[in-house]
Amino acid sequence: MAVNIVKGTRDIIGEEANAFNYIENLLKQICELFAYNEVKPPVMEYSELFVRGVGEASDVVRKEMYTFLDKGDRSVTLRPEFTAGIMRLIIQNKLLATSELPVKSYYVGPVFRYERPQLGRYRQFTQFGVEAVGNDSPEIDVETIVLAYTILSSLNLDNVSVVINTIGDDESRLNYKNALKAYFAKYLDQMCPDCHTRYELNPLRILDCKVPDDQKIVAGAPKMKDYLSDAAKERFNKVLSLLDALEIPYVVDDTLVRGLDYYSETVYEFHYVSSNGNDYGAIGGGGHYGKLVKELGGPDVAGVGFSFGVDRLYSVLKDDGLLPEGLDNPIEIYVMPLGEASKSLAMQAASTLRLSGYRVDFCFEDVKLGNMFKRAERKGARFAVIIGENEVNNNEVIIKNLTSTEQITVPFDKLVSKICCEMGDECCDGECQCHKES
Ligand code: AMP
Repeated sequence: MAVNIVKGTRDIIGEEANAFNYIENLLKQICELFAYNEVKPPVMEYSELFVRGVGEASDVVRKEMYTFLDKGDRSVTLRPEFTAGIMRLIIQNKLLATSELPVKSYYVGPVFRYERPQLGRYRQFTQFGVEAVGNDSPEIDVETIVLAYTILSSLNLDNVSVVINTIGDDESRLNYKNALKAYFAKYLDQMCPDCHTRYELNPLRILDCKVPDDQKIVAGAPKMKDYLSDAAKERFNKVLSLLDALEIPYVVDDTLVRGLDYYSETVYEFHYVSSNGNDYGAIGGGGHYGKLVKELGGPDVAGVGFSFGVDRLYSVLKDDGLLPEGLDNPIEIYVMPLGEASKSLAMQAASTLRLSGYRVDFCFEDVKLGNMFKRAERKGARFAVIIGENEVNNNEVIIKNLTSTEQITVPFDKLVSKICCEMGDECCDGECQCHKES
């Protein structure tokens, strides 16, 4: 019996795999414009990192981690998010001491969460994001928002709203948590068991509860904005005025708190509704974290970052017809050996063309010529290079333009220059004689 794929995971193949590459390459290019450098932490870390980093009150740590004992009885976890691992990487490699601050990093790779599989929600998915660590200014918060916004604009995702809020400094959050505790204490016996745990560990997390009856109670809860210290208000106003100056549109939502425990001050999400009305909710989000680096054993510095789900970016782009043409990776040239004796020369032809930068495929199966042409067409080839017994004997190749159907025979050593002229590439050095001929 065949073995199936693990529940909640999926295979990404063909055009979708190429679309992932297209998205990831574009994200990387934009990060580099903003002077962020790629980092590649390992997929697994000691479990303690996420318990301390992401927070034991978060759903991610309480219910969703892939945690197991390795053969040395150490508890390790497949990363459920990147931020904690990047903080560990920055601290362990002493990047804060040896680099200019902030240390600006970006990442892309798989993350694992044991969630209930459903449309757009997987147990392994790809996250892309950035972290800027070692600077506590409103400006760096705003730089990350501008970076994310630039990425979304470059992907032509115009129906995005930037939703932003502040969850304040330590003092504001302490006061707010106390107010939430006082409020929820009255309703706790009507609320779900999860909310009882949240109440004890971090009452802010109750605001994320998805149980409809609990949401009604949450609607009447105190609002963060009424517990902000003057300093937190001032900082947030600075963030908003910078966004105004940079003409980044946003919506302030005072119920936005984000699901991971390390956030403080500015938090934000990017929401998307596709042109056919599909509401994707948050396709990415992030925020400022004041204490995370210190809690993980590093210096007392702040950071800010966001992450996007690449799977979700792909669905949105696909849904709105915004993926570029040609993601099925058409080849340029199809090499067709006619018979056993021509395979060696045909392989040399393919090799020479590939080394000159052409995308070339080779017909490995012994099929009829007509079938080879059909394959060439399916693969999107513009030219066929045909090599039969005659060509082998004369050390020649046939080049057939599959659009005009014209064909020419050229000496093997003129293959590349002839193809180059036929493709209209600006590489002709006169060697091929094409320009003299015309
Ligand atoms: P978070 O780390 O929870 O803030 O998630 C950041 C982004 O990752 C979300 O906005 C989604 O785009 C994506 N994401 C989160 N969970 C999943 C999941 N289970 N499957 C696919 N994408 C996800």
